[in-house]
Amino acid sequence: MIKHHPSQELLASYVEAELPVSLSAAIAMHVEMCPVCAEKVATITDERAEISFEVASGKPTDSKLENEAIELDLDAMISAITASDDIEQTKTPEQKTISIKGKNIVLPRAISNIPTTNWSNIGKLSRARLALDEGKVRSSLLNIEPGGSVPEHTHKGYELTLLLSGSFKDDMGEYVAGDFIMLDGEHTHQPVSEEGCLCFTVSDDAQHFTQGINKLLNPIAQFLY
Ligand SMILES: [Zn+2]
Repeated sequence: MIKHHPSQELLASYVEAELPVSLSAAIAMHVEMCPVCAEKVATITDERAEISFEVASGKPTDSKLENEAIELDLDAMISAITASDDIEQTKTPEQKTISIKGKNIVLPRAISNIPTTNWSNIGKLSRARLALDEGKVRSSLLNIEPGGSVPEHTHKGYELTLLLSGSFKDDMGEYVAGDFIMLDGEHTHQPVSEEGCLCFTVSDDAQHFTQGINKLLNPIAQFLY
């Protein structure tokens, strides 16, 4: 069961389209997998729609005539929307399949249209970056082969991990597909994946490795960021 969800603030910013593409994609993918957050997003969307309608229609009027006029306009608006829906059917983006170490994986629709770099490998870790031009914010697909782990590290900025398939655990518990894990500099963790996993990660700064051999691990910090 999914235990880790985006905060209410993040969901609201997602509805308002205020987030960088990478975070927005992560939330879209989570919402696809999580009925609880899908419901929350629907509620926030309805609330925002009501607010913008109130703003658009101005102050409530006393005149019955004017109210009727507004209702008529609404009817016209709704039939216009319904009519245009009949003509323009929404196209669902095609899903992209990627191949990692001989395994084919279907990517969620939210990131299917974003080009990815080739895979780089260090031991049991493979990483492909998503070609998004977001400055310090970098997004990647991270694949961990069965039995693989990421050395213990903390975060200078934030690190978001959305588990797409498989599972991993750290000292805070076990994670399943759909879990949305947002960590900042206060957290230290060492993810280990027994069965292997594929994650979508967003990070706004290089990870800081906390084990004794920091210098040796620097290439991994760059690799993962
Ligand atoms: Zn959720």
